[in-house]
Amino acid sequence: MKQYSFWFVVGSQKLYGPEVLETVDARAKEMAEEMSKALPYPLIYKVTAKSNAEIYDVVREANYQTDCAGVITWCHTFSPSKMWIDGLRDLQKPWCHLATQYNREIPNDEIDMDFMNLNQAAHGDREHGFLGARLRKPRKVIAGYWQDEAVLSRLGDWMKAAIGVAVSKSMKVMRFGDNMREVAVTEGDKVEAQIKLGWQVNTWAVGDLVKEMNQVTETEIDALVAEYEASYDIATDNLAAIRYQAKEEIAIKKMLDREDCKAFTNTFQDLYGMEQLPGLASQHLMAQGYGYGGEGDWKVSAMSAILKAMGENGNGASGFMEDYTYHLVKGQEYSLGAHMLEVCPSLASDKPRIETHHLGIGMNEKDPARLVFEGKAGKAIVASLIDMGGRMWLIVQDIEAVKPILPMPNLPVARVMWRAMPDLATGVECWIAAGGAHHTVLSYDVTAEQLCDWARMMDIEFVHITKDTTPEVLENELLIKDLVWKLK
Ligand code: MN
Repeated sequence: MKQYSFWFVVGSQKLYGPEVLETVDARAKEMAEEMSKALPYPLIYKVTAKSNAEIYDVVREANYQTDCAGVITWCHTFSPSKMWIDGLRDLQKPWCHLATQYNREIPNDEIDMDFMNLNQAAHGDREHGFLGARLRKPRKVIAGYWQDEAVLSRLGDWMKAAIGVAVSKSMKVMRFGDNMREVAVTEGDKVEAQIKLGWQVNTWAVGDLVKEMNQVTETEIDALVAEYEASYDIATDNLAAIRYQAKEEIAIKKMLDREDCKAFTNTFQDLYGMEQLPGLASQHLMAQGYGYGGEGDWKVSAMSAILKAMGENGNGASGFMEDYTYHLVKGQEYSLGAHMLEVCPSLASDKPRIETHHLGIGMNEKDPARLVFEGKAGKAIVASLIDMGGRMWLIVQDIEAVKPILPMPNLPVARVMWRAMPDLATGVECWIAAGGAHHTVLSYDVTAEQLCDWARMMDIEFVHITKDTTPEVLENELLIKDLVWKLK
């Protein structure tokens, strides 16, 4: 993962004289260093901005530096906002306005007008906020004391969402074959996706992958199988199938890395020259942070790579998922999610098992090896990016994952069981009303707030189905989105 950092730009003005400005400068440096200790990415103090030129210069540098993933601003003193117009108008990096102040308390005895002039963030941050609103500039506002855990945690979450922006803007998706025939929701406008989200989505021949597979050596396969053995339990005698998956993984990885692609798709309808649909191969690639989408679904593939990158240590518990079937027993209403093979082991509650089973769907000549496991219990989200024709919606639903309530001994794939919010039936009604896909990214790590931040920064529409959502309210929200879009 690229080493990203964030820049701290502190607002002031020349009116206060050098002594005050030296204090602001020293405190800003101290705050950035202290906050960096609790944040997932370094916060680097750049400048106490006192003029249009200083702000414009730091913005130009931030736009240009690829390791700068975002800018965090704060006004220690009052900082007249007209001098921020040129800089903020041209800022191309994610922006967070941290509304805080250096001191936690108002010092009863010491407070005088000098103190008031030095510590007037309450005043300065309002002027700063007005300009953000006036420019209609997408930004995150986080308010609170800079040493508080809750503030640092929200700032850290925003940083990770901003990393998602950087990853999105450099996303390249390798497609082996086209989308599954006749399917609508996995389609989309790749040109619009590149304009809006920065994704380069292109196709490579399955035949080229087969050629690459034929170049893989037995030594390479031995090394990867040893890795499988170290990470997973081998629950099959069919070692040939495991070796075949290793060969597929090595070849796919070589092609992805050669083209700098962080995500890929394939489809069971186009496996010409391959004996097995990549199962274990795709799953182990996902575990390494690559995005994946089945049936040619490049949108879910790119999104899964982005959510992984937004997660803990740049590769969190997020992966490709598909709503499969329901348990509709009263009081035990759950969705069962899985895929024909390709569920990411970052979702697993226990050590996954490698199994081989017959796969009737597609062109498999031989039984594919795959990882089988149960998903973790806990709060999570599912996210679906859909193309609504000229515009994209990111639909996110809060879910509560549970330990699967049935052992399902004959189910030959990894599975996750959950309750959608607000309840299964209402949640399904809302999801279907909004047009959410059967393919999603399920994440235990990335929150709906982070995805809302990401969508705002990418300038796409965001729909959130929560414990409080009703179909009526959602319908009105979607209607308003349509009206706003038509007016634009
Ligand atoms: Mn599918």
